[in-house]
Amino acid sequence: MTDALISSTYSQALEVIASVEPRIAAATRAELADQRSSLKLIASENYASPAVLLTMGTWFSDKYAEGTVGHRFYAGCQNVDTVESLAAEHARELFGAEYAYVQPHSGIDANLVAFWSILAHRVEGPWLEKAAAKNVNDLTAEDWETLRKELGNQRLLGMSLNAGGHLTHGFRPNISGKMFHQQQYGTDPETGLLDYAAVAAKAREFKPLVLVAGYSAYPRRVNFAKMREIADEVGATLMVDMAHFAGLVAGKVFTGEENPVPYAHVVTSTTHKSLRGPRGGLVLATEEYAPSVDRGCPMVLGGPLSHVMAAKAVAFAEARRPEFATYAQDVADNAQSLATGFLSRGAKLVTGGTDNHLVLLDVSGYGLTGRQAESALLDAGVVTNRNSVPADPNGAWYTSGIRFGTPALTTRGFGADEFDKVAELVVDVLRNTTPGTTKAGGTSKASYVLADGVADRTKAASAEMLDKHPLYPGLVLS
Ligand SMILES: *Cc1c(COP(=O)(O)O)cnc(C)c1O
Repeated sequence: MTDALISSTYSQALEVIASVEPRIAAATRAELADQRSSLKLIASENYASPAVLLTMGTWFSDKYAEGTVGHRFYAGCQNVDTVESLAAEHARELFGAEYAYVQPHSGIDANLVAFWSILAHRVEGPWLEKAAAKNVNDLTAEDWETLRKELGNQRLLGMSLNAGGHLTHGFRPNISGKMFHQQQYGTDPETGLLDYAAVAAKAREFKPLVLVAGYSAYPRRVNFAKMREIADEVGATLMVDMAHFAGLVAGKVFTGEENPVPYAHVVTSTTHKSLRGPRGGLVLATEEYAPSVDRGCPMVLGGPLSHVMAAKAVAFAEARRPEFATYAQDVADNAQSLATGFLSRGAKLVTGGTDNHLVLLDVSGYGLTGRQAESALLDAGVVTNRNSVPADPNGAWYTSGIRFGTPALTTRGFGADEFDKVAELVVDVLRNTTPGTTKAGGTSKASYVLADGVADRTKAASAEMLDKHPLYPGLVLS
């Protein structure tokens, strides 16, 4: 698409929006300006291509299509069928999966579909067979109550939130920690690394139905062959949530035992993080689990977002190109450079480094909480998020860490030298930030003082790099 065409497309679209609610058009313009002018280091964010973005803004949004391809509860779904089959086909090819389900609206939805598919396959199915019932509608009230209790009496073992797992991996306040009896595995308190022997010991004792692997804030690769071995030993279903690192799997940076697809029974993902697609979810499964995953609607979901499924198809097609593999390798190489940049300036990293797309910096050495560091960095135009570190003394709200990810700036074209410069800028900000005081005169965990001039010099240095690697080059709004 030519620059002029894309510029006029968006300019005119914004005019149409402004004719109804100008404040939304203005916020949309402001968001582009903000994204262009800040160093986006949030590990879960990226920049989707104009093709992906444009695909989301169409009349597919208006179509209801509950059901599956060729088997819909609404008439007139022939074009949605085209879109959904293509998205699923691209996903299967991209990941080498036996089956792909592209309807989940988000990562959390994908996990809910996975949980209920596993429960349907492992608990409900065998139970119905024993009761000689075809489906749950045939059950007597009494049998139905028994089955419901059985479904609610299952066990899940996942990585704890403060070790880098996700809310949906059995965190008690989340539905996953309530619908299952849950236990969590962590990381080694000394090294910060996953301890497979400890996971295995916990699994042997707890005997979970579902073993969840995957993370949001663990800066290392996982050996999924080992996780599968543990699952097999205790009769668990292995579910891998690759929401964060799906791009590294798609781009063949994670291969062999680091690729979850050949080892997991069910793999879930988002499509908008390192995979660089539209906001959405994805479930991959073996043939064995496919029929239950296919029942995501009506088990968990209502109508799919057809416009987003279309955008997933476009994004998966992009990810199947050789350029995407280069991108994914760059994401990993840039994370190395960022980590080395931090270490060479004396910073402390959880696990001592990274071998994926993210780096977790322990800011306690600067006398700061994660909250203070995050705010000071934002003042300097560096967008990150605070994150707990293992055994965090400051808890999940203030935290002691900052998480950095390379997918977004790598999309803009940042290279290894620039990520080293990013490390320099971040360390400069942190060294020049001091904790503020509370009204009572004590040390605050939230307020901070950033020394004069630091924000300006950081922004100037960032602007130089950002200008060299413009976001959506050629897109000029009139
Ligand atoms: C981001 C993330 C999710 C949730 O994705 P949403 O689209 O925000 O619902 C689930 N699991 C993991 C591991 C994640 O990192």
